[in-house]
Amino acid sequence: MVEAKKPQAPDLRDVERALVIMAHPDDPDFSCAGTAIQMSRQGIEVTYMILTNGDKGNHNPLVTRNQLILMRKEEQRAAADLCGVKQVIFMDEEDGFLRPTFELRKRVCREIRRIRPQLIICPSPERYLVGDGYINHPDHRNAGLVALEAIFPAADNPMFYPDMADEGYLPHKISQLYVTGYDDPTVEIDVSADLDTKIQAILAHKSQFDQPAEMEKWLRERWGDEQADGSRRYFERFKAMRFDRRDEEEESD
Ligand SMILES: [Zn+2]
Repeated sequence: MVEAKKPQAPDLRDVERALVIMAHPDDPDFSCAGTAIQMSRQGIEVTYMILTNGDKGNHNPLVTRNQLILMRKEEQRAAADLCGVKQVIFMDEEDGFLRPTFELRKRVCREIRRIRPQLIICPSPERYLVGDGYINHPDHRNAGLVALEAIFPAADNPMFYPDMADEGYLPHKISQLYVTGYDDPTVEIDVSADLDTKIQAILAHKSQFDQPAEMEKWLRERWGDEQADGSRRYFERFKAMRFDRRDEEEESD
């Protein structure tokens, strides 16, 4: 058996702006809120992009679809606030039916060219089965596909969407990509010190938890890695990629 390399600490020295692209409200909080908290604290401007409107995440028959959409946006904004994330963009695709369409790729590409992040975080498009008891939500896979296809080959290639230049959105190449949901991550971030805030951010999605205390208990007791002394430490892990930036693309803005 090939021994997996131990994941490295992140290198965020060249990151001023980070964009988190996820399928549903609450996905950023489960997958990378601790990382977002740490980046925000370091002065990195973090933006969440939520691709669907979350209109299938309902546990209460008295709540209408439109009420739920509004509620989930408010919850995601509140969670982002807790993490120091100032901007949340909602792309309003239908929950449960997210597809990597050319139209959505263009919309995501426009946001990448507008925000000009050095780092993008997105889910794995390859993760179908999780452990032995969970089929990954197709929206998560498709969110990963849309994000990757917007990053490459589209975002940094002026031949893609030349009309965007008229809007002032010029091609942009990111320098780092963190993808969640891989069994062989290459970067890990110890978020133990921010676990309480991460849990608060997850529980800010009130519509999603009939029993928030149970969820908190699960996160504290089951998530994270047990240490030799019996204590637990909590990590967010990513498959990381780094891209060389061409000189002519150094930003002047
Ligand atoms: Zn989700």
